[in-house]
Amino acid sequence: MDHSLDALLQNELDRLTAISRRRRLRPVHWSEGGMRDAAGRPLIDASSNDYLGLSQHPLVKQRAAEWAQRHGAGAPASRLITGTRDITLAVEEKLAAFKGCEAALLFNTGFQANATVIPALVKVGSGDTATIFSDELNHASIIHGVRMARCPTEIFRHNDLAHLDELLARHGGRKLILTESVFSMDGDRADLPALVKLAEKHGAALYVDEAHTTGVFGPQGRGLAAECGGIDIVMGTLGKAVGAFGAYIAGSRALIDYLVNRCTGFIYTTALPPPVLGAVDAALDLIPSMDAERARLANNAQRLREALAAAGLSTQESTTQIVPAIIGSEADALAAAKKLDDAGILAVAIRPPTVPEGTSRLRFALSSSLDDEAMSRLLAAVKTL
Ligand SMILES: *Cc1c(COP(=O)(O)O)cnc(C)c1O
Repeated sequence: MDHSLDALLQNELDRLTAISRRRRLRPVHWSEGGMRDAAGRPLIDASSNDYLGLSQHPLVKQRAAEWAQRHGAGAPASRLITGTRDITLAVEEKLAAFKGCEAALLFNTGFQANATVIPALVKVGSGDTATIFSDELNHASIIHGVRMARCPTEIFRHNDLAHLDELLARHGGRKLILTESVFSMDGDRADLPALVKLAEKHGAALYVDEAHTTGVFGPQGRGLAAECGGIDIVMGTLGKAVGAFGAYIAGSRALIDYLVNRCTGFIYTTALPPPVLGAVDAALDLIPSMDAERARLANNAQRLREALAAAGLSTQESTTQIVPAIIGSEADALAAAKKLDDAGILAVAIRPPTVPEGTSRLRFALSSSLDDEAMSRLLAAVKTL
């Protein structure tokens, strides 16, 4: 028997193929103002997280190019060495003002932020280790952070605040509640005002991941945390509606200064490059005035939910631009994605372990840049599912 690593890996890949869980990379490219598949066929993109179309906005692309010309393609050191430029601090100040927080800190990715900020907050100096309370549907990067924190952890049922209340009451000491403001695979929302009240009642700190709300929800797209207040740690991404790349943590000056000293995912990594900072800077100029695009996005999502309901498919509790169409088995979800693909629609099948067993789905992620013609084609194709 072949005991090589490759043989072991191939065996596992074969097992994944047999249960319809093997994932494959599929190249698409951007040309003539739209997405195309490898053969050059135009695709209606119903799967990207570019909710406001900002990754293709002329001003965003232009400022990325300008800042590359002026400041270089990279900032080739970590933030505490020479990776902090005047433009880095300016973008952080702009982000803090956008989020209505005292301070903000850039991270290279949302995954890196969640995976390393959570552990940094659990054990602070020689103080008590906190207990974590995490929603069962939190993103893989949050789960990673929780595991890295190696502390007592309670997982509460999805959006079940009575369950959370009960679990919080069972523990003394410092507590940290983790949630997303809009959940990435279901497109439903957390009840942030109620979570803030619960956190206050139990003396817990509240950490909210705004990956899917930054730019999309709240006053002028500032996120749901901006609307509600009272949240200790706000995390968000810059690669989704902001159309660029990277992530941020926003909160008090003490929180940010502490992370500069103690967060490994901030300290031991190269700073974000100038073109990315330029794109973020331009997007932050544009987002507050994009209410028309936000309304169009909400309308696109509502029309899709209605079409899916008419086709007999559940969209669960979605009220946002993320719309799941629950199919069930892995094979059926892949077949549904293939059917839409044949109609020129890119809607990716999401399978376990990303979502619970038996809830394989198409995950639609819409954009305000889908025009009436694209929406008509999408809705017509959905009717055939
Ligand atoms: C996408 C996502 C992340 C990861 O952000 P990246 O910048 O893409 O690494 C974190 N949390 C949630 C909820 C997400 O959807």
